[in-house]
Amino acid sequence: MDADCIAGNIAEVSERVRAAAEKVGRAPETVQVLAVSKTHPAEAVRAAFAAGLRHFGENYLQEAEDKIAATADLDGIHWHFIGPIQSNKTRAIAAHFDWVHSVDRLKIARRLSEQRPENRPPLKVCLQVNISGEASKSGVEPAALPALAAAVAELPRLELRGLMAIPAPFADEAKKREPFARLAALLATLGETLPGLDTLSMGMSADLEAAIAEGATLVRIGTAIFGPRGT
Ligand SMILES: *Cc1c(COP(=O)(O)O)cnc(C)c1O
Repeated sequence: MDADCIAGNIAEVSERVRAAAEKVGRAPETVQVLAVSKTHPAEAVRAAFAAGLRHFGENYLQEAEDKIAATADLDGIHWHFIGPIQSNKTRAIAAHFDWVHSVDRLKIARRLSEQRPENRPPLKVCLQVNISGEASKSGVEPAALPALAAAVAELPRLELRGLMAIPAPFADEAKKREPFARLAALLATLGETLPGLDTLSMGMSADLEAAIAEGATLVRIGTAIFGPRGT
């Protein structure tokens, strides 16, 4: 997909975000667009950066490391790791990323904290919640979330910022908002005891409106910006 096409898509996504925010009386600036560039080349990241985006998300470490190196000249770019995390990948993730959205175990959080390089600020993290109760999905169970959040908040080289979820797809439009509402409620409850929780990472290309209606502060958008991913 060429740069003009990506710029046009970003304008459309911005318009969707604006409309969804205004519909529920929110300021559009309270919703950050994270451009999910997985499977797309560094040139696509450059095009989105040129069109004004500064936050990019990746799922696969090897691919991300190459892309981060290839775009190192882009001043003010921020990289977010949003994929499943294996223990043997934490050192590289801690070294190369500004944010991690997919922390769902204390063991992984401890490693990220221990391995965060001294010369970088604390790593910003969101805890991924298994909000739809899917047996096969990653994410901490809601019942185990308060204990995990309290433990992660204590880790010196992490900055706990909020929650992330990928709900099961709903055929029923009216039910799309329910899992997002549950995630927002979990964040509100945690906020009663933990300071600084300001991030609700929820909503993708197909459901960003529902997520924004329930309070998303960051929407993770791949397809609507970069086009379909090759299989
Ligand atoms: C791929 C991915 C996205 C982007 O999905 P689209 O439907 O292409 O917008 C968002 N979040 C996560 C965790 C992903 O893996």
